[in-house]
Amino acid sequence: MKVSIVGAGIMGLGTAWALERLGHQVTIFEQGTVPNPQGSSVDQHRLIRYPYGPAEGYMKMVGDSYAIWDQVWADLGETLYRQTGTLCLAHTGAKWHQESIAALERAGHRVESLSSTELAKRSPLIETANVEAAYSLDSGGVLFAERIVAALARRLAGRGVEIRTRTQVVEIDPDRGFVTLADGTVVGADALVVAAGPWAPRLVPSLRPRVKPSRQVLAYLVPPDDLKPLWQASPMLLDIDPDVGFYAVPPRDGTGLKVGDHRFSLSGDPDGDRIGTEAEIAVALAACARRLKRFDEYRIDRLKACFYTVEPDEKFIIEPAGLSTYVMSPCSGHGFKFGPLLGSAVAGAIDAGEPGDIAAWAAGATR
Ligand SMILES: Cc1cc2nc3c(=O)[nH]c(=O)nc-3n(C[C@H](O)[C@H](O)[C@H](O)COP(=O)(O)OP(=O)(O)OC[C@H]3O[C@@H](n4cnc5c(N)ncnc54)[C@H](O)[C@@H]3O)c2cc1C
Repeated sequence: MKVSIVGAGIMGLGTAWALERLGHQVTIFEQGTVPNPQGSSVDQHRLIRYPYGPAEGYMKMVGDSYAIWDQVWADLGETLYRQTGTLCLAHTGAKWHQESIAALERAGHRVESLSSTELAKRSPLIETANVEAAYSLDSGGVLFAERIVAALARRLAGRGVEIRTRTQVVEIDPDRGFVTLADGTVVGADALVVAAGPWAPRLVPSLRPRVKPSRQVLAYLVPPDDLKPLWQASPMLLDIDPDVGFYAVPPRDGTGLKVGDHRFSLSGDPDGDRIGTEAEIAVALAACARRLKRFDEYRIDRLKACFYTVEPDEKFIIEPAGLSTYVMSPCSGHGFKFGPLLGSAVAGAIDAGEPGDIAAWAAGATR
């Protein structure tokens, strides 16, 4: 079958990877370069972790995702992932935290609860006052996102997948699977996948009332010299505070220490700049100052803005849109880890000629 894909982020590439393995002929249209620094998928790293609060479907999906990533590493001939472990901190009223533990234990994960004293011993980086509860998991780690996108694109090009960079799709015909390019050329295919990240609502009108592009700012930080070895060995931190909450991605293999917060800006234009401002990350940095010891000695290396779409319930929208088209909108800032898994599901649905339960599963229903 001939399949067109709009977008060469992790969703488009993950889908192309799975389609090519099923023997289909794939063309990807990408408006920028590959990797595209404007895309959601392109930053030094993205996290993969099991705790998911009450969203048990996504927690289960993480295990399936690890299995597919192993196939990707085998195919690429390199593992672009480092396990860090996961350390969750909860403060007052930590419902998400308790729901995560219950779901993890039901699924047989070993969750180690830490008292304040144990936490202080385990991580000298953390200010333990006000931490009501903490737990740690051996699992979870860092996916080297930009390197994965680049390696997948190289691999696919080597296998005959056509990747047309700087080629914008301006219109789609979802029933016929056709795309119209900016120069007016119409390209036909048997099936079409729209994996256009935060730009997807422009091509798929039915998404517009359901999702909103959201500009999110991240800070790359430089800790004091004597704390650097501690960060190199630190697990990822998920600080679950009902008011703010931040996550810290520990440096590995030459990447930086990065922090971001869990709140959505729900504003901005994905065609805009990617230069973050201190005002946009101020609340998360204030949370870091409360939770990390000696935070006044940390220096901001750079601030980076990034976009994703937000769905009100933080669910992914992956579903048919017309007779020959699938739309992939892995909304709300947690989709990278699932790229090849969701891509394999879409490839399977195209191959089988019917969607099955893909929309409900992608929206978090347990299988
Ligand atoms: C700050 C931040 C932190 C995140 N943290 C995590 C995390 O820790 N763990 C996790 O799992 N996920 C995380 N995510 C979410 C994850 O990065 C996204 O879910 C994922 O990268 C989305 O991939 P995508 O392929 O759908 O989109 P993108 O990577 O944006 O790819 C879409 C591509 O389509 C192209 N395109 C768009 N329109 C057109 C067009 N008309 N014609 C041609 N090409 C077009 C774009 O140029 C772009 O390259 C985070 C996201 C952000 C922004």
